[in-house]
Amino acid sequence: APIVLSRDEHNISRSDLDKSALDVLYPLKRAGYDSYLVGGCVRDLLLGLEPKDFDVVTNAEPEQVKKVFQRRCRLIGRRFRLAHVRFGRDMIEVATFRGQDSDKPKERGTFFGRKKFAQKREVDESGRLLQDNIYGTIEEDVWRRDFTVNALYYSIKDFSILDYTHQGINDIDDGLIRLIGDPETRYREDPVRMIRAVRFAAKLGFQIEKKTEKPISELAPLLQDVSNARMFEEVLKLFHSGVAVQVFEKLRHYHLFEHLFPQTEEILATESEGFPRMLVIEALKSTDERIRSGKSVNPAFLFSAMLWEPMQKRKQELMDQGEVHQNAMFTAANEVIEKQIAQTAIPKRFTAQIREIWSLQYRLPKRNGDKAKKLLEHNRFRAAYDFLGIRVAAGETSEQHLFDWWTEYQEKTPVERVAFASDLK
Ligand code: ATP
Ligand code: MG
Repeated sequence: APIVLSRDEHNISRSDLDKSALDVLYPLKRAGYDSYLVGGCVRDLLLGLEPKDFDVVTNAEPEQVKKVFQRRCRLIGRRFRLAHVRFGRDMIEVATFRGQDSDKPKERGTFFGRKKFAQKREVDESGRLLQDNIYGTIEEDVWRRDFTVNALYYSIKDFSILDYTHQGINDIDDGLIRLIGDPETRYREDPVRMIRAVRFAAKLGFQIEKKTEKPISELAPLLQDVSNARMFEEVLKLFHSGVAVQVFEKLRHYHLFEHLFPQTEEILATESEGFPRMLVIEALKSTDERIRSGKSVNPAFLFSAMLWEPMQKRKQELMDQGEVHQNAMFTAANEVIEKQIAQTAIPKRFTAQIREIWSLQYRLPKRNGDKAKKLLEHNRFRAAYDFLGIRVAAGETSEQHLFDWWTEYQEKTPVERVAFASDLK
């Protein structure tokens, strides 16, 4: 039986809840189903933080959810069917309770519980799994979740909070990230849980509980088995979390970072003067500041910074072999990006932007004639200018004057700019 915190034993009130979330919970309840908020939103509300999104779970199967919300509802996912319910720009994800072990990530293979639930599995002629929807009860659903603090359910029936692991509430109070079940087993099932532990610890200011922490460094290489597409998504969540600097320090501490950015790690491990490290930190600091002030962040900027030193090093090697600068830079950029893609699949539009940010670093000094004007109109100017700022702040280049010149140039009117640029030389 779960530990139950009744309405007057916790701080979550209905006015804290998203209107759209209530518009999903109540109709499900009226239709006779159980419906709960679960995961990050319950955790964040208990901590007095504003949830990023509201996830709903129910005992209604996706088709039944569809019946309740009709045209507002779209069923998505072939392997795991989920319902998306739309209210204007808002979207609430509604999942059906999963049976145990129903969701071993595909890339890790085996499915336990196969026989027991065989009648529910739909397979095509070649035996490929069409759907893998093994529905269960709330008591089963809880054990497939990752951390105790992510496995609390808020019931719309009586506004109570249910803690089936018996540790979730305590761990919220104590600030602990604790895996449910045997940590090594859970990491082997899904190695991404190691980086989720780091992300939540940094984000919430929590400690990773001892047993949850212990196997991480040793199992870190398992991240190599995770698809590079999923790793790209996870890297963005890590470094666009608003606490990227802490995330970076922790990832390095647990030997996870080398599996995300092996070329960067190699430079960091052999650095002599601290420039690469400072460059990465300055980039992450600036990303954190942007997130905190509600500005947009660009994945290309992050990757430009992470891979700048590896690219520089390779470029130098090629130049030492007699290659001219332009070609060396081009080849080095290709090679470094290609290697990174083996870890984190970077979509094409971003790899193009990374190259632009880099090559603009060599064009920013050339400002005479109408070059300055052309550069300012370049789509990637702003990112390239910010990147120059970070290089200066990190002491990687001494071109403070160049950065200041561009700052001043942008502040002028178009007419003033012409005179300002022709004063060069
Ligand atoms: P965030 O604030 O980042 O959204 P979250 O806890 O809501 O944090 P999600 O990735 O949105 O994280 O996942 C929702 C819930 O699904 C989690 O709280 C957890 O219960 C479960 N979950 C997500 N990913 C995993 C995983 N890899 N293994 C087990 N359970 C998971
Ligand atoms: Mg969430």
